[in-house]
Amino acid sequence: MPCHGDNPERIVHIEDRKFRYADFCQQCGKLQSRYSVLKFASIGQSVLGKPIWCVRIGKGSRQVHVNAAVHANEWITAALLLRFLEDYAAALEDEDPKSGQTTTRRQAEAWYSDYTLWAVPMVNPDGVDLSQNGADHCGPYRSRLLEWNGQSPDFTRWKANIRGVDLNDQFPAFWEVERERRGIGGPSPQDYSGPAPLSEPEASALAVLTRGVPFEHVVSLHSQGKEIYWNYRDLEPAEAESMAARLAAAGRYRAVKLEGSDAGYKDWFIQEFRRPGFTVEVGEGVNPLPPEDFEEIYLDVHAILAEALSL
Ligand SMILES: [Zn+2]
Repeated sequence: MPCHGDNPERIVHIEDRKFRYADFCQQCGKLQSRYSVLKFASIGQSVLGKPIWCVRIGKGSRQVHVNAAVHANEWITAALLLRFLEDYAAALEDEDPKSGQTTTRRQAEAWYSDYTLWAVPMVNPDGVDLSQNGADHCGPYRSRLLEWNGQSPDFTRWKANIRGVDLNDQFPAFWEVERERRGIGGPSPQDYSGPAPLSEPEASALAVLTRGVPFEHVVSLHSQGKEIYWNYRDLEPAEAESMAARLAAAGRYRAVKLEGSDAGYKDWFIQEFRRPGFTVEVGEGVNPLPPEDFEEIYLDVHAILAEALSL
């Protein structure tokens, strides 16, 4: 039975409490055939060869990037970002607004003319599947994954990619410092930085995209805590703090100045480009967040991303 808040007209949804790569691709296919404003392209492949999809929308000169599901057990963020894209496209192309439609046509038209949004909803597809399906379908990695997971078949808390590398510790921004701080010497469910910066194809694909497009600012969706991180070693531009305050106010989240963390995507973006980068920790609870929370969290995410396209 569909739970309260589900809308049968909606393409993007969580079914049977799961949102795996196959679900994501199937819903992307439906979005692609329904909405011509959504442009799909692969930016690379995961370790197991899954295309990593980027969805572009808009014709504005201001380039903005949003990514999600960098961490495996935060897969709800992939569905949240894809829903945002659906609502945005529906506001532009559907004749009648759907019930529960959050984006207005006027809002969508303004975003569309001012911005080009590049969204990568599922950065870590192998990890997303591992955390939901377990290791049985991971071919040659199965026995190693069980070993790295302490012989437990329960991968629901897994954050890393399929090689046990934490993709948000992979970026070349004081990577060695982060590695020392974490003190994890090899593949692990979380916090292993990998053998070298950008050693993993998922992190590398994100870096290549980011170097190839002049993004004004970037947003990385994680879970959980209802917090927004906006600074990095005093390298962020002056406006980052007030922008974070606006994003936080929109979602009723807290803007938090963070110390003692390196090698994340937003850290690297701020260091490399000296432009604003934000990590948004959506929802509250224990990862993976329960699918029942999806519609409620979506309202926060919608408000925050709407603000990110109005900064
Ligand atoms: Zn995370």
